[in-house]
Amino acid sequence: MALSTVKTTGEMMTTLRFFLAHYIKVKKIKLAVEGRCEVCRKECALDDLVIHTFINEDEAEKHLLEDLEEFLLVLCSRCHGDIHEFDAPLEEQGAVVRRRPEKIRTQIRKILAYAPKTVQPPDSDLEDAYREACSSRFRYGA
Ligand SMILES: [Zn+2]
Ligand SMILES: [Zn+2]
Repeated sequence: MALSTVKTTGEMMTTLRFFLAHYIKVKKIKLAVEGRCEVCRKECALDDLVIHTFINEDEAEKHLLEDLEEFLLVLCSRCHGDIHEFDAPLEEQGAVVRRRPEKIRTQIRKILAYAPKTVQPPDSDLEDAYREACSSRFRYGA
């Protein structure tokens, strides 16, 4: 799947519901990139890193979970702020993903694809987690 096939809606999603609901996966992905911002390479505390996604919920639903690897970046809060403030083109964001080492890409795809049915939260919990996050730091496109 090529990035160019993804429609630009002009609306930059900050993070997918999926990541708001899967804290453990988020943590594992941050560890997969060695706790470094993928743009400035600065080493950060895991809590200071954000998983930024550049695909909207509708598009994301059409992809396999593991394919979301192509639409996410692990960023420090500063780079994350910049990417939103300067409205970085999807092309540029995709270029950062393409520079990601193959080993790390594989690792992230594995983390994303791993879904034991038994611990899947019911939809209501997921909605709550989303609403909670929206009401706090994610509200203004943080
Ligand atoms: Zn973001
Ligand atoms: Zn950074």
